[in-house]
Amino acid sequence: MAVQVFGVEGLPLINKGDDIIAMICDRVSFQDEDMLCVASTIYSKSKGYTRPLHTIRPDKRAIRIAAHDHEDPRFVQAVLDDAAEVILEEPFILSQMSWGHIGVRSGVDRSNIEDGFVILLPPNPMAAAQELRARIRGISGKEVGVIITDTVGRAFRRGQTGNAIGWSGMPAIRDFRKDHDLFGHELKITEEAVVDEIAGFANFIMGESNQGIPAAVFRGCGRWKGHDNLYFKGEEDIIRQALHTFEQAKKKQ
Ligand code: GDP
Ligand code: MN
Ligand code: MN
Repeated sequence: MAVQVFGVEGLPLINKGDDIIAMICDRVSFQDEDMLCVASTIYSKSKGYTRPLHTIRPDKRAIRIAAHDHEDPRFVQAVLDDAAEVILEEPFILSQMSWGHIGVRSGVDRSNIEDGFVILLPPNPMAAAQELRARIRGISGKEVGVIITDTVGRAFRRGQTGNAIGWSGMPAIRDFRKDHDLFGHELKITEEAVVDEIAGFANFIMGESNQGIPAAVFRGCGRWKGHDNLYFKGEEDIIRQALHTFEQAKKKQ
């Protein structure tokens, strides 16, 4: 397998109303089976999923958490507004969005936008990926998979990486269960989170600061079989349960 990866260069600062796919299609000639990774940041900017801090009135809870976490209470309020469930309040907010993703500070960003504004994650990233994929098909006639990425922290290891928060045109997970290894053993649990692997490398191509590369194209990955159940459900998630126990114990103290 020979895979080519390139960043989409020369895009301007994105504003509400911009047709980001038209702008990308001006710079990339897509082929069938390509995959386009798009930073959630520019999708959100193009849709106006941003908030000016000066319009946000923090409630008591936001003020309390902000004092503890050394944050701007208005920023904390924006984070709480996007959380379906708050898992941890300190030392930073860890929250789950209604669509399943768990992220630090609900994925709300203050970087790569003008002072006084925050960028929110798209409210429905799966639908967003579908929409972008259809737009590429509409403009170029090509069948291109789309992954919407965000930079995320992770458990156990230092360092952020890219994750897929929305995808369309490929299954999230490549399922190896029932395959046989080199020695004929049946694989019982191996599921590979391919969309996250691709998002991770896309994140590397994009950078985090002033590179100005909010999209990357992957060519030659082919396609794989699997499923879309990327998020653990209730009982499957032992880390989540452990955090819950930890929070309950703290409240009893
Ligand atoms: P996130 O990972 O989705 O939160 O996005 P980042 O803020 O880390 O930005 C990812 C990449 O997109 C970096 O190379 C940024 O410089 C770039 N970027 C962010 N916003 C814009 C924009 O409006 N226009 C352009 N051209 N690049 C942007
Ligand atoms: Mn982000
Ligand atoms: Mn990033």
